[in-house]
This record gives sequence, C-alpha cells and structure tokens, in this order.
Amino acid sequence: MFSLHGSGLGGGIAIGRAHRLAPQLLDVAHYRIEQHRVGAELVRIDCAIVDSRQALETLTENLPSSAPAEARALIDIHLMLLEDELFVQGARAIVTEQGWNAEWAVATRAQELAEQFDEFEDLYMRERGRDVRQVAERLLKSLSGTSAQVSGAGAESPIFVAEDISPADLLAMRNGIGFAIDLGGTTSHAAILARSLQVPTVVGLGCARELIRDDDWVILDADAGVVIVAPDEEVLAQYRTLQAEGLLVKDKLKRLTNVPAVTVDGVGVELLANIELPGEAESAREMGADGVGLFRSEFLFMNRPDLPDEDEQFEAYRDVVVAMRGKPVTIRTLDAGADKPIAAMKAIHSANPALGRRAIRLSLAEPEIFLVQLRAMLRAGRFGRVRILLPMLAHGHEVDQSLRLIEQAREQLRDRRVAFAEHVEVGGMIEIPAAALSADYFAGRLDFMAIGTNDLAQYTLAIDRDDYAVAALYDPYHPAVLRLIAGTIRAANKRRRQVSVCGEFAGEPEATALLLGMGLRQFSMHPASLLRIKREVLHADAGKLAVRVARLLRADDPIRARAMRERLTDPERQ
Ligand code: PEP
Ligand code: MG
Repeated sequence: MFSLHGSGLGGGIAIGRAHRLAPQLLDVAHYRIEQHRVGAELVRIDCAIVDSRQALETLTENLPSSAPAEARALIDIHLMLLEDELFVQGARAIVTEQGWNAEWAVATRAQELAEQFDEFEDLYMRERGRDVRQVAERLLKSLSGTSAQVSGAGAESPIFVAEDISPADLLAMRNGIGFAIDLGGTTSHAAILARSLQVPTVVGLGCARELIRDDDWVILDADAGVVIVAPDEEVLAQYRTLQAEGLLVKDKLKRLTNVPAVTVDGVGVELLANIELPGEAESAREMGADGVGLFRSEFLFMNRPDLPDEDEQFEAYRDVVVAMRGKPVTIRTLDAGADKPIAAMKAIHSANPALGRRAIRLSLAEPEIFLVQLRAMLRAGRFGRVRILLPMLAHGHEVDQSLRLIEQAREQLRDRRVAFAEHVEVGGMIEIPAAALSADYFAGRLDFMAIGTNDLAQYTLAIDRDDYAVAALYDPYHPAVLRLIAGTIRAANKRRRQVSVCGEFAGEPEATALLLGMGLRQFSMHPASLLRIKREVLHADAGKLAVRVARLLRADDPIRARAMRERLTDPERQ
C-alpha cells in the first residue's frame, strides 16, 4: 500500500480498479518505408485524420445534457488541429522526405510542435502544447487499428490513470468513476470539465502512471487530493465507510435545500453561488442558492483565439439572469491575466504577471473591450437583477473610471436605442491588501463589496496560489489575513453596505463560524458546498461567535489562533 498526493478537484471518494491509459506518444513503432510504399503511408495518415475527425464529431453530437456548454468549444480546438497545416503537412513531410513510417512521423511532428508551445511562459499557449499531444495520441490510436475511440471507454467502472487527459477523452470515458492524472494544472481544460461534471479527479500526481498497475485497487479521495494504491483491508473498509457516510450526508443535506439559512439566535444569512459557466446557474438554483455571488465571466473568454462579441456575452449573462428568476446575479468584469490567461488579450510581457496589468487594470487600459462587456451586462440587467463586480481594486480612481465607462456604455446603448437596465449596483472585489486596509474608503464609493480571499491570502502572504513549491505556506487562516477580512466586513457593516466573501474560504465549513463571528452575512461559494455551509449556519450562534472571534482576532500567535478557532463551535462552550 502507498499513497500519492496531488490537487483534488472535488467530487468525493471513488474506489475501484485502475485502468491505465497508454501515453502512445512515447512508445511508437519506428521503421523505414520503402520508396514505393510512401503513397500508401500518406493514405494511412489521411485515413487516421478522417477516423479521428469522425470520432470527435460523434462525440460532439452525443454530448450528454450534463456536459458544460464549454465542452463543444474544447472539442473544436482538437478538430481544428486535425486540419492544421503545420501539424499535418509537417508529419507528411517526415514520411515523404525522410522515409519514416506514419506513426513515427505523427509522433515526431507533434513532439516538435508541443515543445515549441512548452517554451511559452503564457499558460494558455502551454495548454495548446497539451492539445497537440492529445490529438497526436488520437491519431496514433487510429493508426494502430484500435480506432480513434479511446481505449478503456468500454471498461466497467474503472479509475482511469493517465499521464494527461484531453477534455474530449474525459467526456468519452464517462464510464470512469474517477481520474488520477499525472500532469498538474487545476486550471487546465480537463480540470475545468472534471470539476463541472463533478467526477472525482486528482491532478498533479507526478508519477501515478508509472507506479500504479492495471487492476490495482485504488482509493481516490478527490476532496483531499490523495490516491491510495493497493490499500489493505482495514484502510479499504475505512474509506468505504467514509464514502457511504459521504453519500448519506449528501442525501441528508438535500433536505436542507429549501430551509432558510438562519442561525440559532435568528440571524439570517444569504448563501450565494460562484459559477464559471452559464450552465451552472441551474444547479445553483437547484441547490437553493439565494443568487449568484460571483459569475467569473473570464470563462467566456478562455480557450478561444478571439473575443466574445456583445451579443454573445449578452446572451450568456441573460441566460444566467433568467435561470436565477429574479435573484441577484453578480457578474464580475473580466479578470484576465496571471492565473487566468486570455489568448485574445495578450498581456504585455511582465516578469511578474500577478503584479502586472491584469483584471480591472487591463480592462481600463482597453476601454473598447471593457465597454463591450459593460453594454452586454447592462442589457442583461433588463431580465432580472444584475450587479457589476470590479476585480482587483487597489485605487479609488479605478472605481471612478469604471463608473464613467458604465455611464458611457449606457449612452451608447441609448444612441443605438437598445433596451437596458437604467440602474445596476456596482461593487468591487476586495482582494488586494491595499483595498482591504482602505475598506472604509471603498465602502463609501461602492454599492457592495466582495472579499476575494484566494487572492487576498496570496498577496498578503506573498505566496503564489498556483505554485506547488510554496503551497504548504498558503494559509488563509494566518492572523494577518483574518484581520484584513474582519476589517473589511466591519467597514462595510458600519456603512450598511452589503459584503460577501467569495473566495474558496466561504465554502469551507471550518471557516463558517469564524466568518459569522466577524459579522459576515453573505457567503458565496461553489454550488456543491452550499448545503454543507447551510448546515453550519443552522447550528451556529452568531451572538456568541462575535465575542469569541473578537478575542481570536487579537491573537498574534498562529498556533494559539488555530486552537481558539478549533474551539469556536465547541459544544462545551456554547
Ligand atoms: C478570489 O481571489 O478569492 C476570487 C474569488 O477570485 P478568483 O479566485 O477568481 O481570483
Ligand atoms: Mg481573485
């Protein structure tokens, strides 16, 4: 028995037998072709392309209704690569000019191209390298006669173990009860899909494919990011119990869907959803969300070479607003840059993109692009209650300029005689320490504030939130981070402005009592966490927590603060 650690994408625990997916690119036949057979070898490449295209098209036609809207676009990227001159002609040239077999030609050309993409600093471009490798693997499967269908697609409830996986394969292998993936990237296309599909997945395992054998028993804990291989009977029994409990808890929690979130001392709390794809609004509503607290609009801009136009954005925003049936929908303006690369908005090269021209800075530097988004949001406002959220504020003039541009967007719509909402609330993300320390000033200028604890912790602690090497030091419970959160909530409450926390912190049950004690009354999180947080709220006493949390916030020693936090909901002390 041994365990491997990576990044869990959520979705619970899966227990099953391993099925390894072959990295075909590393292991291809390599032989010379006689001159008179070159033509036939080129025909083999052409047939493999046709076969692969058909497989991808069939996949698109049969997309399950639960597949996120983005799935089609991700498959389209692979279809486009099958037509790509650099790739296809390059492979053909290796056959005609160097006399190698088709498999070797495809693999070599793919490797050359992928290595060029790997050189890019830009995450989006590096992702394209993975796409090239994945398309080549599909062609190799077809060339080897196993058809372009994914091997393993028919196996019974396996846990797939792979070096990497393409979004298309992930969709084709819906028989998989879990995925253990060696390559990292919680922001990769496949990771985004896996999260949306809620299939237990752990990425960034490093050497799972090397260490796990076919048919090994595997426990995949996608909440903890752990894979246990060949577990003994005792561990297996423990995890089976945990899995059953998890399902039971999920089932029990469902009963809370329509129960109002009110603490034992009668304090009402709003539980909102974070969504990334328009299609997720439906599941937010089914989970009983009081609205959308954060719609990360950049997902409309990702994985494509161009920008979505005003109509496309309007339709996406309107769909969410309509699905939420009058409940508030907070749409964040484009938060591009650093961990959220957008191909069509090439950021100016920056040695440190997390501190560069990103988010609101980029939108204000590109007013024409910003105006398109603002117009789309104002138009969607006619169909319900839209709130505009500005990311990464640090300066007051960023609010002033944004408000002026919102007014300009209104004038443009008036001139065009297009209907829009005259009034929409405008709020700001508090996720840079400078903004948190000036919370009173921002509360005076904004209609509402949303605390982004993911970035607030990153910038307060100087820890890159996506860097595995320092991941252990990333601690949103650090007393300094907690004080910034508490100070922002206090400033907003004093001025009677709505304030929410919309970072991952809001979806952690361990943090609910703490945040309630700070005076937070709006929590925004992934829809899958809503009911668990509601259960915490129903058991909490906001009045008592306020006293305890005030004491906790005075503790400088992180260990003491942690101990106090763990005792916050101690029934002995209730
Ligand atoms: C945050 O930073 O906490 C946040 C909610 O925004 P994102 O994770 O999209 O940066
Ligand atoms: Mg952020």
